[in-house]
Amino acid sequence: MTVRRILTVDADLAVLKKVSAPVESVDDDLRRLMDDMLETMYDAPGIGLAAIQVGVAKRVIVMDLAKKDEPPAPRYFVNPEILWTSEETGPWEEGCLSVPDIYDDVERPIQVRLKYLNYQGEAIEEDADELYAVCIQHEMDHLNGVLFIDHLSRLKRERAVAKVKKAARADA
Ligand code: ZN
Repeated sequence: MTVRRILTVDADLAVLKKVSAPVESVDDDLRRLMDDMLETMYDAPGIGLAAIQVGVAKRVIVMDLAKKDEPPAPRYFVNPEILWTSEETGPWEEGCLSVPDIYDDVERPIQVRLKYLNYQGEAIEEDADELYAVCIQHEMDHLNGVLFIDHLSRLKRERAVAKVKKAARADA
């Protein structure tokens, strides 16, 4: 497994804005990508990562919502689709490995029903709420070139990108 470079909004916005393509088959090559993505996410550390965040425009997501004292619980999503969303929405403070050190509330449906293929390529359908619902919607946005800061006001978004750029310059 290899830790890959995570693309960030300061330098890689054009790639992050790409719409990812559906995966044709869940094979060993794809599992290698998912293994790398998981390793990259754990290394960051983060709780979710979409393939486009490592520069691969495929509809693939990895996630692990286990708490610190719980054993790792990796989840893999290939070609995820939202089948239903609750009318009720709620705010949740979100962050993103591609927008480092920026956190803000995003309003989203509090419950969703989704379907996807797992690591083995099996079709799964399930309900998600709380952090899982927030995270899957955030990650699925990435597959469509949407970042969580795109849900904020223009002023907040521009301020966030400027802050990430400034931090990247300071690091260089
Ligand atoms: Zn993100």
